[in-house]
Amino acid sequence: MAQIRSKRDGGGDPMPIELLAAPMLKTGPEDVAFKVLYCGVDHTDLHQMRNEMHMTTYPLVPGHEVVGVVIELGSEVKKFRLGEIVGVGGIVGSCGECSSCTSNIEQYCSNRIFTYNGIYKDGKPTQGGFASAMVVHHKFVVKIPEKLAPEQAAPLLCAGVTAYSPLRQFCGSKKGLKGGILGLGGVGHMGVQIAKAMGHHVTVISSSDQKREEALEHLGADAFLVSSDEAQMRSAQESLDYILDTIPAVHWLEPYLSLLKLDGKLLLVGAPKSLQFDPVSLILGRKTITGSYMGSMKEAQELLEVWAEKGLTSMIEVVKMDYVNTAMERMERNDVRYRFVLDVAGSNLHE
Ligand SMILES: [Zn+2]
Ligand SMILES: [Zn+2]
Repeated sequence: MAQIRSKRDGGGDPMPIELLAAPMLKTGPEDVAFKVLYCGVDHTDLHQMRNEMHMTTYPLVPGHEVVGVVIELGSEVKKFRLGEIVGVGGIVGSCGECSSCTSNIEQYCSNRIFTYNGIYKDGKPTQGGFASAMVVHHKFVVKIPEKLAPEQAAPLLCAGVTAYSPLRQFCGSKKGLKGGILGLGGVGHMGVQIAKAMGHHVTVISSSDQKREEALEHLGADAFLVSSDEAQMRSAQESLDYILDTIPAVHWLEPYLSLLKLDGKLLLVGAPKSLQFDPVSLILGRKTITGSYMGSMKEAQELLEVWAEKGLTSMIEVVKMDYVNTAMERMERNDVRYRFVLDVAGSNLHE
């Protein structure tokens, strides 16, 4: 067993990720043990490694878009079989009793347990998918459809479901909605494809013209709007039913709120430190700013099925574990189209 961890050096700066030996894992009666095949890399991993949320405990084993193959099943687990391809996203536990848990939106449980840097029910720290194996309670494991390549499935487990959940929740099955996707990164590129699959007219809103061809030709968006071009922005005013705002950095909301129609919704899924807007623009158009956090296990399973059925493709760059620190740096510069996926099993971590 081996894990790739980030730890803190004496000077207080988090060190880059390195290989360390890890303790043996035990499979409880309700657990699924799997060998990790692939794991997506997202901005949260970087924020956590650097303790930007002031809650990191080192050593840290990041990774919450984990795909693996089942190697052991607890005696009570009936839903899975050995050798099956499975996935784990952002959480690995919740209380199971509150209204969120009993309504299948366990990601909103106030006692949710994060896949890594959390404390599990046994009091031990949770550790994510930058590791050769994981043991997770079966309720927090999804089945990866056979038609879907395992590396393709990885980014769906956090980025994908983060886009899917608010679109399901706030748009339902209404066809013909006009939606905007703000920011074409890990979450945004999936948002475009998901919104299209839901039958919406999709406009990608980006700060420059750079990604136009990709948005329109490869991801299937219907329109492309450059947010720094005032004339374009003016002509698109009050044209959208919703905007999925995936930008993780601080930005002024006003230009985007003006794109929304009456009753339009700004769906926030990026988590910048703060955001500013003019309340008058909400009041005059009865507009809503709302947030959404990842997605439920049910939604993750649904999205995987939709993705497989419609033959959609995640745009990923698969890299080996020894590239992880470079991948982090490149991700920070937005130098990835659109998601790094670590080939964990192919990286020969020491057993
Ligand atoms: Zn709960
Ligand atoms: Zn994530």
